Amino acid sequence: MGRMGAKLRLVTVRGRALRCVVCGHREFSSREVKLNSTGAEFLGLGWANRSALAVICGSCGYVHEFAGPRPDLWRPEQGYPAEVEVD
Ligand SMILES: [Zn+2]
Repeated sequence: MGRMGAKLRLVTVRGRALRCVVCGHREFSSREVKLNSTGAEFLGLGWANRSALAVICGSCGYVHEFAGPRPDLWRPEQGYPAEVEVD
């Protein structure tokens, strides 16, 4: 694995540019995280053991987790797609 996931990306969620909720930074690293729930495992609810995508602020390190539809990741040097709302 090494430093995989350390690459910084612009992130959009449902067509909107994501900014860090803490510091407002726009570049994030990302990695898969497990949403393990001991209770769900005990009950045999396999569907509850899903993974989420965590995007980690490249400035302050705050972790934003997305358990639903995946955020889209973009190379900073290419910028956001034209249709993205950037506020
Ligand atoms: Zn931040």
